[in-house]
Amino acid sequence: MADIGTLLSEIVGTEHVLTGDAISEDYAHDEALSRDPVKPAFLARPQTAEQVARLLKVASGQGIAVTARGSGSGLSGASAPRENGLVISFERMNAVLEIDTENHVAVVQPGVTLQELDERTAEKGLVYTVYPGELSASLGGNIGTNAGGMRAIKYGVTRNNVLGLEAALPTGEVIRTGGKFVKASTGYDLTQLIIGSEGTLALVTEAVLKLHPRLPHQGTVLAPFTDLDEVARAVPKVVDSGLGPLILEYIDGLTMGAITYSAQLQLGIPDEVKETSHAYLVVMLESRTADRLDEDIAELGELLSDLGAKDVYVLPGPSARKLIDAREKAFFTAKAAGADDIIDTVIPRAALPEFMAKVREIAQENNTFVIGCGHAGDGNVHLAVLQKDHEIRERVLRALFDAGIDLGGAISGEHGIGRKHVKSFVELTDPAKVDLMRRIKTAFDPAGVLNPGVLFD
Ligand SMILES: Cc1cc2nc3c(=O)[nH]c(=O)nc-3n(C[C@H](O)[C@H](O)[C@H](O)COP(=O)(O)OP(=O)(O)OC[C@H]3O[C@@H](n4cnc5c(N)ncnc54)[C@H](O)[C@@H]3O)c2cc1C
Repeated sequence: MADIGTLLSEIVGTEHVLTGDAISEDYAHDEALSRDPVKPAFLARPQTAEQVARLLKVASGQGIAVTARGSGSGLSGASAPRENGLVISFERMNAVLEIDTENHVAVVQPGVTLQELDERTAEKGLVYTVYPGELSASLGGNIGTNAGGMRAIKYGVTRNNVLGLEAALPTGEVIRTGGKFVKASTGYDLTQLIIGSEGTLALVTEAVLKLHPRLPHQGTVLAPFTDLDEVARAVPKVVDSGLGPLILEYIDGLTMGAITYSAQLQLGIPDEVKETSHAYLVVMLESRTADRLDEDIAELGELLSDLGAKDVYVLPGPSARKLIDAREKAFFTAKAAGADDIIDTVIPRAALPEFMAKVREIAQENNTFVIGCGHAGDGNVHLAVLQKDHEIRERVLRALFDAGIDLGGAISGEHGIGRKHVKSFVELTDPAKVDLMRRIKTAFDPAGVLNPGVLFD
């Protein structure tokens, strides 16, 4: 019987199977905080769906754990390898296969990054609207995590924008689901089952993505408020206005100070306003025409003032872009400031004031620093937790998850469960549901080789 390295090499070629020191440190982790890096035994770089399926068949036969890897920017530990395991990296499957301007879809391989897709769709006046903060992320990773991002308030998350998939199964077959159409009532929706499954069911080898016309005019308004409660109460009203924000983000005062400082960004807010503002709303609108945009921005400004904003700043294009960019990089700012964990609990947006009050209470009780920002329009709160003591930190995280779930929410809105939140996920989810999920997992992956330890232990 040939050794495993030889079996893998026969599929993708010797130069595309790496072992030992040839595997760079980058592959040993994703961006999840407080996790030690682990190098896998093998890293394979396939080029076709058929090769992926054959790799999976070998792994199933040999009982080797497989971790799919896009760009490794995930925040839940779901693309971190297993020791003795195989990482399948999609870096060579990185072609935009088609931009179909009549059906408004893109067909891509999983290793294409959001940045690359954005450049290609821009050439055709179209846009793929799922826009998580890290544009180096791959489409395969986005599908694995059901990525969201700032524009979900208007266009939805990955789940709402993937029409079909080609995927390799651990049993060695390649299947196609969905297609270049927006609806189907034809059996179980396997596309939706695979999206957000964090590499535990099947590996995506191609995806059909929904595209939209790229609207040429965008305007951004920054509104400081006295406190988070005011911001949280304003959010449903902005949604209610019919202005259809493209972005509706909240940033707490400390986070705003930190991200603008690290981006060297001056927004022209007078010191006396800054000193008394503990929370901000950032609202971006887009439009087909400049006149319509101006009208909407003026209406938005009035609305925000009525809702208690201390002032309303319409940001010039470059400042707006810098602020959004700094907000997208808030994770790295929090990491540099010593954050020990980042979570992204989601709750119904109207429950934001109650949730934020609970967050303050939990932080105080546990002598822990908790700050954040988030996709307020989606009720998706990103909290940086600064607490070095592991036990206290775990207690804080659990209390935050409990609070979110009590308000009708869920542990994660977009980052996923990964390996970080398995215990909370299993303990806080209806056992009948967890059991059904385990049986679905077994149906896809009878040998249990795809990302073991992610979602379930
Ligand atoms: C600064 C920063 C900002 C971020 N902002 C956001 C945000 O606003 N919204 C958001 O949702 N996320 C955000 N993220 C998290 C991250 O960018 C997303 O989770 C992204 O979807 C991960 O893509 P990736 O290619 O890096 O995936 P990876 O980390 O490589 O993998 C993520 C998951 O997908 C699986 N996977 C990868 N490829 C495949 C495949 N071909 N088939 C099946 N499964 C696969 C992996 O096994 C893993 O489970 C942010 C991260 C950073 C660092």
